[in-house]
Amino acid sequence: MKAEDVKIFGVIGAGQMGHGIAYVAAVSGLKVILNDIKMEFAERGLQNISKILSRNVDKGRLTVEEKDAVLERIQLSADLKDLGSADYVVEAATENEEIKFQIFRDIDEICPEHAILATNTSSIPIGRIAAQTKRPDKVIGMHFMNPVPVMKLVEVIRALTTSDETFQVTWDLAVKFGKTPAEASDYPGFIANRILMPMINEAIYCLYEGVGTRESIDTVMKLGMNHPMGPLALADLIGLDTCLAIMETLYEGFKDPKYRPCPLLRRYVEAGWLGRKTGRGFYEY
Ligand code: NAD
Repeated sequence: MKAEDVKIFGVIGAGQMGHGIAYVAAVSGLKVILNDIKMEFAERGLQNISKILSRNVDKGRLTVEEKDAVLERIQLSADLKDLGSADYVVEAATENEEIKFQIFRDIDEICPEHAILATNTSSIPIGRIAAQTKRPDKVIGMHFMNPVPVMKLVEVIRALTTSDETFQVTWDLAVKFGKTPAEASDYPGFIANRILMPMINEAIYCLYEGVGTRESIDTVMKLGMNHPMGPLALADLIGLDTCLAIMETLYEGFKDPKYRPCPLLRRYVEAGWLGRKTGRGFYEY
């Protein structure tokens, strides 16, 4: 199979990442099936896509006809069986191993033999997900960044079992979506989170040990390193629970104390201070 042969694109999970992935696929001309556990979740995903399209119409980047044509290419689903016609599927469901394993066992039965099954996981080993299926050569990591419509990078992660053809189709699809792919091997955190999360964790240690206030830590990294956001503000955007889960994966995966999550991060998560999504993290929203 080649990327041009992918006509029907399935997305599982219509949340923060899934709706963005469905958006870029539909804009590139593919027919998209957007699945979630409940129809109302899929509908919320479609509303978010519609909002992005309307903003583009307001800015004169898109005509109303083009917006309608993109929306018409998206079919909503609350039943994985609807993916029976998909040529390529990206799973962007909740970051939980058991949820993802079950989805992959199911779609392996449902999807056509030629279909590639990709995951947008931030930290679960691709090889473990591939091993849930009878087509481990057709399982791969396709890791988009948040927010998907804006961020240019797609990390493409091969498991040991992933075939060259699966890799090439995924790479070419990322380019078709207007993204720049970069290849990473299947080690904990891949490249993006292996580098980003220890930096964020170190920033939290600086706060914990009183090296600086939240403002001074973020100002140093913004103005001193030209980062668009400081690490503590970025942690709030990503979600502190997600940051902790990724640090735990790095720590467990390498058994190296350099990846130990900062106790202050754990305290915030235990208190339910998860960042922007709960109105409080290192900053108040
Ligand atoms: P989210 O909570 O916004 O969305 C997850 C969606 O998956 C929800 O709508 C939920 O109802 C749905 N879901 C749960 N179980 C399902 C199932 N069995 N079948 C179908 N849908 C199901 O989460 P998110 O931030 O979009 O993250 C999704 C994935 O993307 C995770 O693997 C995460 O690690 C990864 N990721 C997240 C970010 C980020 O910055 N948030 C960045 C890159 C990758």
